Amino acid sequence: MTVSTQSGFRPGADNAPMPLAEARRRIVAAIQPIAETERVALEQARGRVLARPVIAGVDVPSAANSSMDGFGFAHAHVDRDGPRLKIVGQSLAGHPFAGSVGRGQCVRIMTGAVVPPGVDTVVMQENTTANSDELVIDTCPALGSNVRPAGEDLARGALVLARGSCLRPADIALLASVGSADIEVFRRPRVAFFSTGDELRPIDGPIKPGEIYDSNRYGLAAQIEALGMEGVNMGVVGDSPAALRAAFRQARECDAVVTSGGVSVGAADFVLDVLGEQGSVDFWRVAIKPGKPLAFGTLGNARFFGLPGNPVSTAVTFVQLVRPALVRLSGAIPAEPIRFTLPTATRLTKKPGREHFLRATMDWRCQPPQVIAVEHQGSGVMRSMSRADAFIVLPADCSDVAEGTDVTVEPFAQTIWDRPPSD
Ligand code: AMP
Ligand code: MG
Repeated sequence: MTVSTQSGFRPGADNAPMPLAEARRRIVAAIQPIAETERVALEQARGRVLARPVIAGVDVPSAANSSMDGFGFAHAHVDRDGPRLKIVGQSLAGHPFAGSVGRGQCVRIMTGAVVPPGVDTVVMQENTTANSDELVIDTCPALGSNVRPAGEDLARGALVLARGSCLRPADIALLASVGSADIEVFRRPRVAFFSTGDELRPIDGPIKPGEIYDSNRYGLAAQIEALGMEGVNMGVVGDSPAALRAAFRQARECDAVVTSGGVSVGAADFVLDVLGEQGSVDFWRVAIKPGKPLAFGTLGNARFFGLPGNPVSTAVTFVQLVRPALVRLSGAIPAEPIRFTLPTATRLTKKPGREHFLRATMDWRCQPPQVIAVEHQGSGVMRSMSRADAFIVLPADCSDVAEGTDVTVEPFAQTIWDRPPSD
């Protein structure tokens, strides 16, 4: 069938597949980040995006304090009078020494305890000899040693985190350290998603030959959830223009819409037509494998991503194009992918034309480290994605790659968990 849309979009010579980098730039540039904000308690703020800069209202730490368990003294006195000092009291975390420390004197001081007036240096306990009220410093540290000045981490008035920061656990701790009990963040994007395909069946029932479980929708839901966004799960929509029209009318109220399937040029692929009727198509087809047929456009208030239905294509295009767009939508800045080179453990076959994203695992245990392409690279073989922790990225113009050649690697998974040995 020919694909034509009311928006005048016609796939053809002038709609050649777009290079991925250009598609990504174009998508991110087209996104208007969400402007509405809300206040949330710090406990609820992980993964949220700061809508206002946070400025320190206090010094962190609030007073000079010791970084060691030891003794505090004035360095000049020891230089002048020698290492023998009278212990006049103690300073504990939360229980500062009440007086000040004079000539020939020191205080016992614990980690985190306030450094009293008259003290500028702390010697660690291990470098001293002490009895009940007298101390001998065996090895005198340099002036100022083991004293953390007030405001060392953050001075009052300093920028703690900028607007647009996506809050990680360390950021939550940092915000707590300046007493930010609640913060202003951007509203979370609402992302509608659905699968298309008459062959798709629910995962909790039987299937007959020719039917398949709707796996993409579960993957998309998990990806959206992992970004901390609100997914609006619209189920499965059949391969008919009428069913798609109804789904599109509902989905357009969200901030973004992600669909899988029906975006190619098959006889049952109507996504592009209906997008053209109800919205507009910005571009269609990206020069990557897997994942060539992909429609990007606008549907009402929403940005629209029509992903190909082959499960690996859906997953790869989500990571490469949808994820950065959703990050931008959320008010944060999408990071450039981390890329480096490793030698390939196996020969890789490729025809020049499209940029390839092979699924692979990185092996850091062997010397030198290497990257191993997963055996079955079919766009329907989801195991290739599930087992991988990185893409091997082969440029469009490259052909077969010999074993041992350095190739570009782009990790896409966090290495918190290792695979079970039997896997
Ligand atoms: P399509 O992009 O609709 O032409 O689909 C391409 C291939 O992906 C076909 O083999 C479909 O059966 C399969 N497919 C489409 N949607 C899904 C889905 N939600 N889950 C698993 N496979 C799918
Ligand atoms: Mg289909």
